[in-house]
Amino acid sequence: MSSIRFLSSDTDVTISLKKLNYCMLIAAFFISAVLFIAMRQTKSMYDETHEVTSQLREYEETSSDLQVASDYLTEEIRLFAVTGNKKHLDNYFEEANVTKRRDKALELLKARHKDSAAYLELQTAMNGSQFLMIMEFHAARLAVDAYNYNIKDFPNEIQLVQLPQTEASLPPQQKGEIAKQMLFNEEYRRQKKFISEHMMNCVMDLEKEIWEKQAEVSAKLKTTLFLEHALTVLLIVVLLAIVFLTSRLVIFPLQEYVTLIRRDKEIPEKGAEEIRFLAQTYNKMREANLLHRERLSYEASHDKLTTLYNRRGFSELMEDLDLSNAALLLVDLDKFKSVNDLYGHDMGDQVLVKVSKTLLQFFGDSGHVCRLGGDEFVVLLENASPEIQDQLKKQIQAINQKLRDSGDGVIPVSVSVGVSFCSGSKDIKKILKFADTALYEAKENGRGDVRFTSEKEA
Ligand code: GH3
Ligand code: MG
Repeated sequence: MSSIRFLSSDTDVTISLKKLNYCMLIAAFFISAVLFIAMRQTKSMYDETHEVTSQLREYEETSSDLQVASDYLTEEIRLFAVTGNKKHLDNYFEEANVTKRRDKALELLKARHKDSAAYLELQTAMNGSQFLMIMEFHAARLAVDAYNYNIKDFPNEIQLVQLPQTEASLPPQQKGEIAKQMLFNEEYRRQKKFISEHMMNCVMDLEKEIWEKQAEVSAKLKTTLFLEHALTVLLIVVLLAIVFLTSRLVIFPLQEYVTLIRRDKEIPEKGAEEIRFLAQTYNKMREANLLHRERLSYEASHDKLTTLYNRRGFSELMEDLDLSNAALLLVDLDKFKSVNDLYGHDMGDQVLVKVSKTLLQFFGDSGHVCRLGGDEFVVLLENASPEIQDQLKKQIQAINQKLRDSGDGVIPVSVSVGVSFCSGSKDIKKILKFADTALYEAKENGRGDVRFTSEKEA
């Protein structure tokens, strides 16, 4: 493959559309693939963050249930102690033994987040809550007595509480007072505060985890987004490069070619190898076509045997010449048929060639020599007036002398010539007719001679 001039006419950079296509395809595929992977990664990062964050939020909410449940227990036990309404104690045990929000919260965190600091905090809060329950059972047992309930109607946790002798012997009203004191005193509140503090620590630990996870992912996201941006810019650059190279290597050369081909001009080799190849091929075909046309044109206007202008060439020649002062010599071989008959057609051809050469020798420099057909020739002399008759007569005699000389092996012949001088007439048929009349005269008068006529005489 030949090289092409690519970016400028001074630099030789070889590139073919095939290679360019491969390069662009590979580049586009590679960049798109990496971009696709980066985008997938971004999405999975987002999904992962979303999942982890919402999971942590769920833990956070569930963990808060422990605080809510603990407060609920406090409220119900206090209400029982204050009002003596058994319904509150039922609510208390419903929460503690059936609903079990505190236990469920702890179990969930244990199952999914056991090794975290948040779980340890929740566990501590739960321990505090359970410790508080011992105090609450004690207070409840006193309240049962205070409101004169039958102990057998209460859960085992209450029945199993052993009151110290000092409390057991107190009257119901005092028992009720002690129960209320136990649930509102400093120690109880301290224990509640202990639970709340560890609950808050648990929630804060979970919050911290969420923030850490989000910070970690956003750092990764930043890198991936930077990569995505860089790849997008690269894709745009590749796209612009494709547009630039396609224009430079294909579109611009083709536009120029179309303009030049319309003007039937040679086209320069530009652009990609394939386009250059097209230009080379077109130029070769154009050149061959031009030569062919030239040859056809030459053959159409020239005689093959003598290479002189033929009748058509003669007519075309007449169109371009100034005939205002011209002399037309109509030359015809004498008795040429018999040359063919006696010596053969080849010898006849040799005679025709000799006649053409002789005419060119005498008139080639000053006029135009044509073979109209058969054994008939025409010589046209521009700027010739009837004054040159004598000179012409001598020239015809000299020509005939040469033609009669058979020293060159060609059968001796002679020509008769009719000359017509035309002044101002451009009608070639008319001029030829005058010359033909003169030729006829020459033939009639013994051949081998010349006769003259002019427009006026005719
Ligand atoms: P005249 O003196 O009256 O002209 O007699 P002529 O025999 O020359 O008669 P004419 O001019 O009519 O004959 C022309 C002959 O030229 C007829 C033909 O056989 C011959 N001829 C025509 N073209 C060619 C050619 O290309 N080669 C050869 N060898 N002969 C040709
Ligand atoms: Mg003849």
